[in-house]
Amino acid sequence: MRLSRLFLLTTGLLLSLVTALLLRSVWADRHTVSTAELGLATMERAHLAMLVAEKASAERGPAIPVLNDGEPANPALRQRLTEFRAATDAAFDAALAALAPAPDTASRRAQAELEQARREMAAARREVDRVAALPAAERRSPGTHLTRAPIDQMFHVIDTVLGSVTTLSAAAEAVYPGLSMPLVGARHAAELREYAGRLGSQFTTALATQQPLGERERHEIPELIGRIEQLHSLITLQARVGEAGSALRAALDGMDARYFGIGLPFIRAVAAQAEHGAPGMDSARFVSRYVPPMQSIVALRDAMFDTARQAAGAEVAAARSRLVVNTALGVAVLCVELSVFLLIRHRVLLPLLRSTRAMNAIMAGEIPEEPPPVTRRDEIGDMKRAVAALRDATLRRRTLEREREQLFEQLRIASDTDFLTSLPNRRAFTSRAADLLAQARRQRWPVALLVFDLDHFKRVNDQHGHQVGDQVLCEAARRARSQVRQGELLARLGGEEFVVLASNCDPEQAQQLAERLRAALGDTPMTPGGQPLQVTASVGLACAAAGQAVALDGLFREADHALYAAKAAGRNRVCCGGQSRQAADAP
Ligand code: GH3
Ligand code: MG
Ligand code: MG
Repeated sequence: MRLSRLFLLTTGLLLSLVTALLLRSVWADRHTVSTAELGLATMERAHLAMLVAEKASAERGPAIPVLNDGEPANPALRQRLTEFRAATDAAFDAALAALAPAPDTASRRAQAELEQARREMAAARREVDRVAALPAAERRSPGTHLTRAPIDQMFHVIDTVLGSVTTLSAAAEAVYPGLSMPLVGARHAAELREYAGRLGSQFTTALATQQPLGERERHEIPELIGRIEQLHSLITLQARVGEAGSALRAALDGMDARYFGIGLPFIRAVAAQAEHGAPGMDSARFVSRYVPPMQSIVALRDAMFDTARQAAGAEVAAARSRLVVNTALGVAVLCVELSVFLLIRHRVLLPLLRSTRAMNAIMAGEIPEEPPPVTRRDEIGDMKRAVAALRDATLRRRTLEREREQLFEQLRIASDTDFLTSLPNRRAFTSRAADLLAQARRQRWPVALLVFDLDHFKRVNDQHGHQVGDQVLCEAARRARSQVRQGELLARLGGEEFVVLASNCDPEQAQQLAERLRAALGDTPMTPGGQPLQVTASVGLACAAAGQAVALDGLFREADHALYAAKAAGRNRVCCGGQSRQAADAP
């Protein structure tokens, strides 16, 4: 597998794993936060249910005087009862409104229990109103317990409400097992407040009638005191086991001092007095001495509840900050992971790929584009520099090779060219003539060879100097070049002797060409060094007919003979060799 592909795959896998871990952690933290929030909300609902219990319990206070009212009825007592009923209804409304939107099963159950309690409360109130409407004599007739029945119904309401408190606080405890001490403590305090209230209610009839306590009351009072003391021990034990804060400790001390130090001993004393005789005080005095110490139980309940609420609030805040920190950490890990991927890709893989391509191109004989300067001093930078050095070395070698080839070409041209006239020299002529003759033979063309030599050239040198002689040679070459056409090969054979090989040229055309050459050289004086100088040339011509197998040597021999003849005949003329060739001339 290619390294880049492997890298992509492993990075993808790693990114997926980290993302999965991050999502899992965020989901878990989010779940913790929502559970903690639900726990806190459930706790608040439990508190609202406790308030319902408190208000419903308090409603008994004004209900009892109304039930025991004389004739005519005291409207102030009824007005007070109406106000307390409104407070209970408000507490019911608040608790049910908080429970209605809650989706959890505990809240559903608690809602049903509270609705049941509300129905029971409505029935108890109807009973209170019914009995209160009866004539006073009927209500007060001993042994009927007419005024007790509605109060018992109201006691039952509180039991139902406390059931919803237990449901909700148990749900909150499930979320916060560590908070069970303040939560259970608050629930016990709520129950304690209820039993303290019930204890006070036992004296209602005795106080109203100024009679000794009834049989039932005498039986229930020690039972209630027993329960109250039991709850007191439970609360004290829990506070000792758990770490009670200073506020909680103060509330506990307050309850011990006020309810258990004043309220309960007061009740005991009244109970002792009312066992066989009148209680010795009226209802108002009893209420004013017994009810205020009960507030210390409510204060303890609220302190317990505040402790739980604060701890739950701290847990929610901690869960939220954990969620934020874990999310931030996870995102940071993802970012780092992605950066490492991009860094390795950008700084290792891509340069590796480009360098490999560049090296392959160099191997294939190409020169890649000049790379940008490498500044990094790492391993990849070293590799890039090595590739750049290889490219430069290849480029230098290529330039040297090209220069060498150019030099070879120049040498080849120089070795084939006459340095004075720039015409092909004898060597080049011999080589190219062989090709021309072969082509002529294939094409069945007639060919002609003209050899021309400047007349009395030695005299030019002698009379005007060697330099003028050279100029004359150059001018003669230029004039001869102007007469030859494509396919005709002109060369300097050496000294002042030149040659033209013309293919596809019959003897007549050859004769004309020879004459043109002679005229071009000899008819117009030259002016080397500014002085007019008459230079002539003699031309020897050899022709070969179409399809005839000819050798260059033979043609040369014949043309030389003709040239010799032209010289001998007086120079500045054209002489033609024999028209036929002997078989011996063929190669
Ligand atoms: P003819 O008419 O019989 O050809 O007489 P000629 O003087 O031309 O012939 P000859 O062979 O006696 O002389 C040729 C001269 O050409 C001799 C030599 O000094 C001169 N020559 C040969 N090559 C060069 C050259 O490159 N430059 C110059 N200036 N002279 C050359
Ligand atoms: Mg000559
Ligand atoms: Mg000569």
